[in-house]
Amino acid sequence: MALTRRELIAQIGALTALTATGGFSSVAQAARERLIPWRNWSGGQTCLPAARVAPATEAELASVVKTASGGVRAVGSSHSFSALIPTDGTLVSLSNFNGLLSHDPKTLQAEFGAGTPMSQMGEPLLKVGQALPNMADIDYQTLAGAISTSTHGTGPKFGSYSSNVVGLRMVTAKGDIIDLDKDHHPELFNAARVSLGSLGIITRIKLQNRTAFRLRQKQWVQKTEELLEDIPRLVKENDHFEFNPILHSDVSLAQTQNETADTATLAKEGGGDGDKIGKLQMANTYLRNHPDAHASLLNFLVKHLEFPDVQDQSFRVFANVRDQRFNEMEYEVPAEAGPDCVREVLKLIRDQNLNSFIPLEYRYVKADNIPISMFSGRDSCAISVHQYYDMDYHNFFAQVEPIFWKYEGRPHWGKLHNLNAAQFTKLYPRFKEFQEIRREMDPTGKFLNGHLRSVFGVQC
Ligand SMILES: Cc1cc2nc3c(=O)[nH]c(=O)nc-3n(C[C@H](O)[C@H](O)[C@H](O)COP(=O)(O)OP(=O)(O)OC[C@H]3O[C@@H](n4cnc5c(N)ncnc54)[C@H](O)[C@@H]3O)c2cc1C
Repeated sequence: MALTRRELIAQIGALTALTATGGFSSVAQAARERLIPWRNWSGGQTCLPAARVAPATEAELASVVKTASGGVRAVGSSHSFSALIPTDGTLVSLSNFNGLLSHDPKTLQAEFGAGTPMSQMGEPLLKVGQALPNMADIDYQTLAGAISTSTHGTGPKFGSYSSNVVGLRMVTAKGDIIDLDKDHHPELFNAARVSLGSLGIITRIKLQNRTAFRLRQKQWVQKTEELLEDIPRLVKENDHFEFNPILHSDVSLAQTQNETADTATLAKEGGGDGDKIGKLQMANTYLRNHPDAHASLLNFLVKHLEFPDVQDQSFRVFANVRDQRFNEMEYEVPAEAGPDCVREVLKLIRDQNLNSFIPLEYRYVKADNIPISMFSGRDSCAISVHQYYDMDYHNFFAQVEPIFWKYEGRPHWGKLHNLNAAQFTKLYPRFKEFQEIRREMDPTGKFLNGHLRSVFGVQC
């Protein structure tokens, strides 16, 4: 039988993805059924789901969940690095559950469809005089995807997105549609605010916002050790503070963002961070085996890059364009341990001359009371390491990870780590409470995949 060009390309795509994931026995079946491969943003996670669906209504979604024969995983914008999504069952997109549904000018609360990309929340909120209190450093995530992993920005007075959730609606494993808030199923509500898609599929989310506001962003280059010494002041005097140590150099890029009443706009430069990352990559390629020259060049280069101030509505200042792909590991350590932990990570990278050129990220997040939020019960410092997408991250991350363990770090649920249920039980005082709620909500493990079985310690 002759194939059209389009059919041929589709089949080659399916075959390539399967070969890459080692699923050789199902290659023929995939080619026959023409399954559509899925991959995450970095390309590090892939799978070949039996079905990909985007229901239009809650009733349709409930029917999908009830009748699916295998596993069911909800997917947002696929921006998680960890294996939260891969399934050979049904992949459910909430892309039809989108947009601002309602808002209350008195309480400053607003409800959105769960699949709304966060990049499409700022403008509608501004129109009704509201804004998210804080944001992550990108806004490509969906709202449900972001809260499911306790996605966060920086600032010791600000919790993760999940801490601002005041209500949500969910389709359960049985196909029931339930509304949750502090007065209706309060324990389930609190657990569902960070639940990795394991308790049910969220269709709408109500957030506690604040009045719309403007921010001024300043960035500068400074010796990393000077910044570390000055952290108590920097954190006290600024709403949002973070810094990015430049690997194999002595310097960091520091950043503050503060609320301002100034109405002048200094727009963010267009484009992403490709140019700056490209310079670091080039220095790494030519000088990685000459550590002294490498450090001198980087110190010089970074000091001569320009970082103009930015001033605009908050959501336009918080969000960045990330056009260089990478893989990432992030741990949240107790806030007071942050400086010692990052010093140790930087020393290891320097002493072992570990091969990576993407800067670290160092941020602060306020404690919450959500059972498996990474910030449950403790103010935290978030420290991330990155590896360029086409360079192997395993050796690099495996060497750094024990330093995070030493400081009782909890891995970001959406980023790479090597922990399982035994370790999580020690790291989270309320882990067993969450495991029980999960077992009750989904006794047959419909919402689990291999990764989540390991996370929650489920055998079959
Ligand atoms: C370039 C980049 C920058 C990042 N920056 C930050 C940052 O600044 N701060 C930070 O904390 N993290 C950051 N992350 C991580 C990212 O925010 C999280 O991994 C987030 O969960 C991704 O959202 P998503 O919409 O892509 O969800 P996905 O990755 O698609 O899914 C994440 C989880 O949400 C679940 N889920 C999705 N939709 C639903 C639903 N409707 N109901 C129930 N469960 C659902 C999924 O099952 C999965 O468990 C970054 C990631 C990238 C790639």
